[in-house]
Amino acid sequence: MPPAAMPLPRIRLLATGGTIAGAQTTGRGYRAAALSIQALVAAVPQLATLARLEVEQVAKLGSQDMNETVWRKLAARAQAALDDPAIAGVVITHGTDTMEETGYFLNLIVRSTKPIVLVGAMRPATAMSADGPMNLFNAIAVAATPAAYGRGVLIVANDEIHCAREVAKTNTTQLGTFHSGQRGLAGLVNSGRAHFYASPVRRHTAGSEFILPARAALPRVDLIFAHAGMDRALIDAAVAAGARGLVIAGVGDGNLGAPALAACAAAAKKGVAIVRSSRTGGGVVERNIEIDDDRLGFVVADELNPQKARILLMLGLTQTSDPKALQEFFFDY
Ligand code: GLU
Repeated sequence: MPPAAMPLPRIRLLATGGTIAGAQTTGRGYRAAALSIQALVAAVPQLATLARLEVEQVAKLGSQDMNETVWRKLAARAQAALDDPAIAGVVITHGTDTMEETGYFLNLIVRSTKPIVLVGAMRPATAMSADGPMNLFNAIAVAATPAAYGRGVLIVANDEIHCAREVAKTNTTQLGTFHSGQRGLAGLVNSGRAHFYASPVRRHTAGSEFILPARAALPRVDLIFAHAGMDRALIDAAVAAGARGLVIAGVGDGNLGAPALAACAAAAKKGVAIVRSSRTGGGVVERNIEIDDDRLGFVVADELNPQKARILLMLGLTQTSDPKALQEFFFDY
């Protein structure tokens, strides 16, 4: 068939809200998730040149309210779409605040080699020079390109393509908020033309072993930010609240001072998984540098940021509470 006569790929567009669907009220404020996905699509008629879209409003929230219930629904809806041979890929609109967490969760749970692309915006849809329309156009284009196959969950914003595992939101308001740190960009996308330069190096999607427990909720994992002068109160409180795991956003190389370290050691003895990550935003947390992880039974997050380490630990704890086995997950994913 000549290219002009080829049917456009079918893309399922799942909407969750966020600033990309935000509307300004008065003054400087705005309300996230105010607009429907139908309204966002109608504002970009050029989308019809890229794909045949099927839209579904899965949730309508600011992503600070993202939670396990919506994650499960998103994972199920994305999986159902990707299992349909007629669907080429999935795009998910999402607030940028927790996009990296949802992206990494789906990267570990959805089994498919087809593209899954998360997209958001930093300016609400009604703002001057809103970034949502071009971000949405680029995200649909990335999901529609065969070059995106097998690359795991991707995040598209500001003309950039990021791997979900590597990306982090790094700025409160600026359009170039997403960065992929030491791994760098997966690619660039210019007015719908995608260019890929890197693939994920860790296990993901079709290669993942994680399955959501059908009946039980994910185990409670709390994330605690370390600081100078830290005491043990928050660690003890998390254990008392029933945490099965703790991720410490440690100072420097995942360190924490003596009182907090003693609390973590006591928690590990009781069977609570302790994962040391870093609050620095870059680098690898290695085992047994200033803290004797082998003796204390701790796990290190390798180079996962604290919020993503929490997701991997929740999923890891559905399979094992053995620190050695949990550590392997952090080296594999
Ligand atoms: N709190 C909003 C959210 O995450 C703002 C961030 C955004 O979408 O850009 O949904």
